[in-house]
Amino acid sequence: MFELKNIVRKNILELKPYSSARDEFSGSDGVFLDANENPFGALNRYPDPYQKDLKQKLSVIKSIATENIFIGNGSDEVIDLAFRIFCKPGKDKALTFTPSYGMYEVSADINEVELIKIPLDDTFQIDFNSIKTYFLDEKLKLLFICSPNNPTGNTINHIELILQQFDGIVMVDEAYIDFSRNESLISKIKMYPNLIVAQTFSKAWGLAAVRVGVAYADDKIINLFNKVKAPYNVSELNQKAVLKVMDNISDFEKVLAIILEQKLCLEKALKSVKVIKKVYSSDANFILVETENAEHIYNQLVAQKVITRNRHSLVKNCIRITVGTPEENQKLLNALNKI
Ligand SMILES: *Cc1c(COP(=O)(O)O)cnc(C)c1O
Repeated sequence: MFELKNIVRKNILELKPYSSARDEFSGSDGVFLDANENPFGALNRYPDPYQKDLKQKLSVIKSIATENIFIGNGSDEVIDLAFRIFCKPGKDKALTFTPSYGMYEVSADINEVELIKIPLDDTFQIDFNSIKTYFLDEKLKLLFICSPNNPTGNTINHIELILQQFDGIVMVDEAYIDFSRNESLISKIKMYPNLIVAQTFSKAWGLAAVRVGVAYADDKIINLFNKVKAPYNVSELNQKAVLKVMDNISDFEKVLAIILEQKLCLEKALKSVKVIKKVYSSDANFILVETENAEHIYNQLVAQKVITRNRHSLVKNCIRITVGTPEENQKLLNALNKI
């Protein structure tokens, strides 16, 4: 049985969080002499520590209560906070799969948490039997699943089986979910009190420079994130930038449709490139391709000023290609055909 209090670090459970001036009085009307701000200027006031307007909008778009939303400084903050809330440094463990997103390991290392890395099978899926025995380890607190997975691009199956059988926290990183036809696991949060869904404004929403990531989970988990976050963790400028794109959903949808159409064109074109041996299908905005020699192809592309991601160290001879504008994709294809 999953029991949140058995998974949370004791110091976090008992933590008395910092109470900011804006926590104690959150009205917008009045004379504010409480936070030692400069009374002059345009950016002189601290931002809303709980990003109420942002959560209100997200709550409508994602059909989930604001109490189930945490907004962080990019997914990187969401991942780091999960380690800090659930994994005791030098004691507890986390688990993820390989090949997958590199930040889980970096964040585990920073937080001094042992990360167990389980290979995905040859279709880049989880072999459930290979992880079941780890569920018995009481030190294993946190499990990361990236779906659609970076760098392979596929959606991971049977995540619910893991949510049902693992008594720790499962963070499903859905950075690429907006590009996928498959449904987000946000709709399952009511069913699984151990589920955290991480999403980001950095990819489909086009706001990588803004650094805003989101965690969706049971409100008890969200309260823990709120306890440990920095008091004003998302700047006023960043909150406004996100509100602006959410006010213009039709532009978002137009751009998304262009990217998805370009992905189909690129997939088709890549299949007839001589130096490419295999084109993996993708539910994201990138395509993993197997080449004859990834190092060589990567360098030849760089020489022609086309930058891709060499993933040879993760998947033999593979390169990850992000879908660009029609012009950029044409340049990539021209460059590839010259090798
Ligand atoms: C790009 C990416 C993110 C986004 O991270 P941010 O810090 O929100 O920019 C998260 N997870 C995965 C798997 C990614 O590829």
